[in-house]
Amino acid sequence: MRFPQIPEDCCNLWESQKVMKPANFNPPTRVLMGPGPSDAHPRVLQAMARPLIGHLDPEFIRMMDQVKAMLQATLFTQNHLTFVVSAPGSAGMETSLVNLLEPGDECIVCINGVFGGRLADIAGRCGALVHTVNTEWGKITEPDQVKAALTKCSKPKLVALVHAETSTGALQPIREISELVHAAGALLVVDAVTSFAGVRLHMDEWGIDALYSGSQKCLSAPPGLSPVSFSDAAIKVLDSRKTKVQSWFLDLSMVKNYWEGSKRAYHHTAPVSAIYAMHEALALVVEEGIENRWDRHRAVHLHLKSQLEELGFRFVVEEDYRLPNLNAVYVPDGVDEAMLRSRLLQEYNIEVGGGLGAFAGKIWRIGIMGESCTMNHVNMLTGALRYLLP
Ligand SMILES: *Cc1c(COP(=O)(O)O)cnc(C)c1O
Repeated sequence: MRFPQIPEDCCNLWESQKVMKPANFNPPTRVLMGPGPSDAHPRVLQAMARPLIGHLDPEFIRMMDQVKAMLQATLFTQNHLTFVVSAPGSAGMETSLVNLLEPGDECIVCINGVFGGRLADIAGRCGALVHTVNTEWGKITEPDQVKAALTKCSKPKLVALVHAETSTGALQPIREISELVHAAGALLVVDAVTSFAGVRLHMDEWGIDALYSGSQKCLSAPPGLSPVSFSDAAIKVLDSRKTKVQSWFLDLSMVKNYWEGSKRAYHHTAPVSAIYAMHEALALVVEEGIENRWDRHRAVHLHLKSQLEELGFRFVVEEDYRLPNLNAVYVPDGVDEAMLRSRLLQEYNIEVGGGLGAFAGKIWRIGIMGESCTMNHVNMLTGALRYLLP
């Protein structure tokens, strides 16, 4: 096909658009070792090329039920309200809070990085009175801090915390805090965006009432979906609300009729192809075995750690609370981190993440998540660094 040439005297945008050639875009093949998205398995990418079917087609509903069953198995939960929100991890965060909080409710949010701060922001927007437990970035929230907050705020509706703080690389122990939270009669809300399918996580055994995750971290599916799960205690709170959930789209009392029951009702048009990808990504997790997957993240992390330390990087988080899949490290002294990151991308096609907030310009966040968690990924990155470092 031939396209007319832009006439030389054409200076009118409308005229030039009429003759513009169709644009095309071919993304480069990168090695994704940042804080997400991670590399996707070819089977996950191919899943998205399957034919579209209606989102109320019985075959689609059969597939949604499989997604739900695989999520329940890999989260170690029996919660029947377990499904995928049609929007990214932040929407899972928002779903958890807008449904459980009403104006005037009190809640406690633990903040030790960017995502704890985001939880507090959303809780405040719900009209809740938010008590924050603030901890230095890179550290974890101690049970004693939560205990102290619970004595000041005796009847909180919920306590929210981040399991894997992607901005600092800290892995938060949950069980002890969970006991304190339940003894106070509150619900426990956990951000498992970066932890799910990368590190040990037992939703029911740990007493988590509301959990949300993301598709693009250790699940290695495309960004844009958020697996969520709610306990019966959380559903009870939801059912006894006095006010309407202020978000129409995220109101669980309506969305749940699309994801469960014998009569599925239209709520919104589900992102059909993205859910094909989620299904395939979960199938890969089940094939590997969730526990083997946790072990793989641990083993690859130890290899990365020894390589990085040889190159002069230092870890931000103390060893006991280090997240294996998201490695936050101080760049060696005298190195221009932004320049080095840019050369890794331009010359080696390797993406690593820079620091957020207080850590901007100081640290790197190296993700080894899901498909990006292999010894070869580590060797590629550290091999390139050996050439690039002064
Ligand atoms: C990535 C991330 C989110 C947000 O997920 P999006 O898909 O970017 O909206 C929330 N919490 C944590 C801990 C994350 O790492």
